[in-house]
Amino acid sequence: MAGLHSFAHRASARIGRRQFLGSAATAAALIPARLLWAEVSASGAMPAEVAAVSGEGKPVALTAAEIKELRAALKGKLLLAQDAGYEEARRVWNGSINRHPALIVRCENRDDIVHAVQFASAHSLLTAVKGGGHSLSGQSTCEGGIMIDLSSMRDIQVDRDKHLARAQSGVLLAALDGKCQEAGLVTPLGTAADTGIAGLTLGGGQGRLMRKLGLSCDNVSSFELVTADGKVRKVSASENPDLYWALRGGGGNFGVVSGFEYLLHPFAHPVLAGGRTYPFSQARAVMKGIADMAANAADEVYLSAGIDRSGGEGTLPKGTYVEVEFVYSGDPKDGERFLPMLDKLGKPLNDTITRKPYVVAQNGPTGAAPPALPPGLGVYVRSGFTQAITDKLIDESIHAFEQGPPWLDEVSFGPIGGQVARIKPDATAYWNRDAQYEFFLIGAWMDHSQDEHNVAVMRDMWKVFEPFTKGYYVNTEPSATEARLKATYGDNYARLVQLKDQYDPKNLFRMNANIKPTAHA
Ligand SMILES: Cc1cc2nc3c(=O)[nH]c(=O)nc-3n(C[C@H](O)[C@H](O)[C@H](O)COP(=O)(O)OP(=O)(O)OC[C@H]3O[C@@H](n4cnc5c(N)ncnc54)[C@H](O)[C@@H]3O)c2cc1C
Repeated sequence: MAGLHSFAHRASARIGRRQFLGSAATAAALIPARLLWAEVSASGAMPAEVAAVSGEGKPVALTAAEIKELRAALKGKLLLAQDAGYEEARRVWNGSINRHPALIVRCENRDDIVHAVQFASAHSLLTAVKGGGHSLSGQSTCEGGIMIDLSSMRDIQVDRDKHLARAQSGVLLAALDGKCQEAGLVTPLGTAADTGIAGLTLGGGQGRLMRKLGLSCDNVSSFELVTADGKVRKVSASENPDLYWALRGGGGNFGVVSGFEYLLHPFAHPVLAGGRTYPFSQARAVMKGIADMAANAADEVYLSAGIDRSGGEGTLPKGTYVEVEFVYSGDPKDGERFLPMLDKLGKPLNDTITRKPYVVAQNGPTGAAPPALPPGLGVYVRSGFTQAITDKLIDESIHAFEQGPPWLDEVSFGPIGGQVARIKPDATAYWNRDAQYEFFLIGAWMDHSQDEHNVAVMRDMWKVFEPFTKGYYVNTEPSATEARLKATYGDNYARLVQLKDQYDPKNLFRMNANIKPTAHA
């Protein structure tokens, strides 16, 4: 996902420069009355009752005995608001999302997931599932419900001979990329090292190798899934094939995935990868040039372009620039033949394209640790699929930066196509396979007193861009309207509703780009 890649890397450099409005006073003012302490037990450690909410927003009172029973069943921890670790666990990547689940189950294994799902189902609780916590719209946490937190489940097993990797649901991209590359193998993942594999893969999984190897979800050979009835199901082409179809692009709608099995491909050579930065004044020529080049490029070429506010962290002064990312995933010698085409775009202010190990292209200079993302950064992202980067779309992008607020962070696009487009749209739930590009609009700020205002401004701004798009990538935002969700899932939508009726008729798993079961439509 091109735009978000450059965004993530630039964002990490900003920490410390921008103000983090996270004072205790601010936080206290933001905390709603989430726990109604009917009575505190003699020890003071456990409330007699915990006030929670249902998926429909109705109050649910959980008794101390019920909480105690759940706690006793778990290998992992059950955290209430007063427990150590709760504050850290409730947080997600997007700093504008400040929600307080009534309880957090920190799962250690599949059985913990089963207990948590059974508990959530039995009490009809509002339910959020946290893999890597990177949901841009904060779908992995909730106000007053239960958070099923998988972030401690990080085991990875690579089978070098069978070309398979088994990974638990709390694994982050950097760890899986690293383990696979140790064996000279790869599976296509996303572009930001600290994203969770779970949310990323279930929604599709776009990244630097997708044109060559397909989406992440196209490379899953099996899932282990806990459905809303608490049953554990093996999901593959031969077992529960209907769910195998739905989990590849249908997001978190069908249950909690406890583990993924990925197909691996031999990939042991360096890649030619990096970025070029151009002055904002060249935005029109560079964006148009990249869009044309990308549309006709070989599958090995990953190219993206965008306008963003960056600089200041490297050699360039802070300002508005045009950024291009290039990755050639075949033999670097072949990739070098592509560079003269890029040179025609003009002299860049900065050029980091060079041969490097794949993990360095993915994970930054050390190739090992995920980049430190700035805690507290508030983000709002809208995106949509488009067939063409037209002159009008480029003009509107430039206009947005000329006239828009200083916290408008990025307008960008990344090409899709290649192997993604070769798979039939109805072969998996992920429908928009013929989309040529994904287009992004990203705002980012640290002053959370402005959250509501800034989101409203972004929504208005998106009204200009949405008509250029058809459908959107579900991993960037929850469903805005049913019409938009239908454009996203196309002819697959009806089958997804049928499967939702079958496996989650009460819509327990609704914090996602939600496919509503018939009874809830
Ligand atoms: C900086 C940044 C860069 C990004 N770059 C890319 C990119 O290059 N390519 C790309 O495709 N996407 C990208 N994304 C989007 C990313 O794919 C989504 O945010 C994705 O949901 C993250 O997965 P997660 O497990 O970290 O998310 P979480 O926040 O934990 O969860 C997101 C959603 O997935 C569901 N979910 C999570 N785990 C499970 C599970 N085990 N079972 C069932 N449902 C589950 C949650 O309920 C929620 O609805 C980026 C996001 C960010 C913030």
